[in-house]
This record gives sequence, C-alpha cells and structure tokens, in this order.
Amino acid sequence: MYRIGNGYDVHRLVEGRKLILGGVNIPHILGLDGHSDADVLCHALCDSLLGASGAGDLGKHFPDTDDQWKGVSSLVLLEETEKIVAARGYQITNIDTTIVAQQPKLAPHIQAMTSNIAECLKIHSDQVNIKATTTENLGFTGREEGISAYAVVLLQTK
Ligand code: MG
Repeated sequence: MYRIGNGYDVHRLVEGRKLILGGVNIPHILGLDGHSDADVLCHALCDSLLGASGAGDLGKHFPDTDDQWKGVSSLVLLEETEKIVAARGYQITNIDTTIVAQQPKLAPHIQAMTSNIAECLKIHSDQVNIKATTTENLGFTGREEGISAYAVVLLQTK
C-alpha cells in the first residue's frame, strides 16, 4: 500500500542567525529565526513524512514549548520522524522538495543537503530530490523577508 504526504514551512530571515537548510550551514548575511535551528527544508520534510504516515504534524511531536527541542539540529527531528514512520510500518519510496528563496544561490549546497537527508532517513541519495527556486522578487520571499519549503513524500508498507 502506498501513502502520500505533503509538508510546507516558512521561517523569517533575520540578522544574527545562521542560515541552515537541509542541515547545511550556508554562508549568508541573514539567517532563519526560530525555536530550533529553523531549517525550513527539514521541517517541511518532517511534516510530509508525518502526514503520509497519519501521525499528525511536527508541532504535535516536537512542540516549541518543550525545551528539549530548543536550538536542536533539525536533522535530529528528521531522524526522530523516521523512527515514527518506521514504527508505523512504512518505508520511504521517494521524496521531492522545493526550497523557495530569493537569496543566496542554493545550487552549490544541494548535494550536501541531499546526503544529510538521505543519511538521516536511512535511504539512498537517489530517493531524495531537492530543488530551489526564487519568486522573481515577488512576495515575502522575493523581498527576502523569509524562506519557505515544500515537500512531498511517497511511503509504502514494509
Ligand atoms: Mg518550522
């Protein structure tokens, strides 16, 4: 049996924070603000995995009121999410994601993000696809006020 899930997340860009996407620390003048490391890609991905396995959402499992998750690497959240998916009897068929950011250029970092995510989820890199796009300077992303990410995942029963 197959199950599909989608995830979406946004974080605000601010000064004085690191920009971490897919667990990669990307040099930039602004970083993403949030309770954890604000890795929008990992957060969207976790939500897609939880959605596909019928396990709710990120906030349910890792509430931002819980200091256990304060400042934590979102790769840890991804590993924890994989355990939830596996415990429900599912394995990942493939993942497709899109990061929406006006700046910086993300192409040089896609491979490192892909490796990080594949490792956390215990799957092969060719099951993980990461794309990046701008919004042609339109909207909050275009004004560089924030970065968003979309994720779609297909699971199958083990
Ligand atoms: Mg988030």
